[in-house]
Amino acid sequence: MPRLFTGIEIPADVAESLSMLRGGLPGARWVQPENYHLTLRFIGDVDDVVAREAAYMLGQVRREGFELRLDDLSAFGGRKPRALVANVAPSQPLMDLQAEHERLMRRAGLEPEGRKYTPHVTLARLRDSSSRQVAEYLSARGMFRSLPFQVSRFVLFSSRASTGGGPYIEEAVYPLAAYAAIGTR
Ligand code: ATP
Ligand code: MG
Repeated sequence: MPRLFTGIEIPADVAESLSMLRGGLPGARWVQPENYHLTLRFIGDVDDVVAREAAYMLGQVRREGFELRLDDLSAFGGRKPRALVANVAPSQPLMDLQAEHERLMRRAGLEPEGRKYTPHVTLARLRDSSSRQVAEYLSARGMFRSLPFQVSRFVLFSSRASTGGGPYIEEAVYPLAAYAAIGTR
């Protein structure tokens, strides 16, 4: 059964600036720069019929590209930190695209995602880092802000079946374009 999720690629120059943040946090397992990504909708382990339906549904998206920027680092997990992430500067087009993926995946037969969407790029998985070590890391590096980058497509990725993790494979790529202009001609 493939394990799938939808997401946005991180361009090489932004990935390079994120990769400079690697190191300096005990207990961190740093994500390989080629595996950086922004998840839109986690689909999970599904059979081939659902996978095909999901891929087809995503092909219905008609949206324009938009710009994103990564802004600030933070940790997920509170007192027991489990991930170090780069946050995404607020973007309505991103939230709209994510909400459409959520609707389409429900129509493909998936259970609703109960959790609120918090866009982020995971930089490290944390095993034994204390909240104090994380706070120290963030006070030294947390000023991070990427260059803006253009999002002109989204991707249906697969990760390793049942266990997850990279390398992530691009199963299908969907362009975002100037569709709005078509209706006004
Ligand atoms: P690993 O599980 O080895 O840490 P991973 O989390 O990157 O690696 P997956 O578990 O396949 O690999 O997850 C793929 C993407 O979907 C990741 O960005 C992950 O953060 C996200 N994700 C995983 N599970 C969920 C979930 N239940 N809800 C929302 N997003 C999720
Ligand atoms: Mg996972």
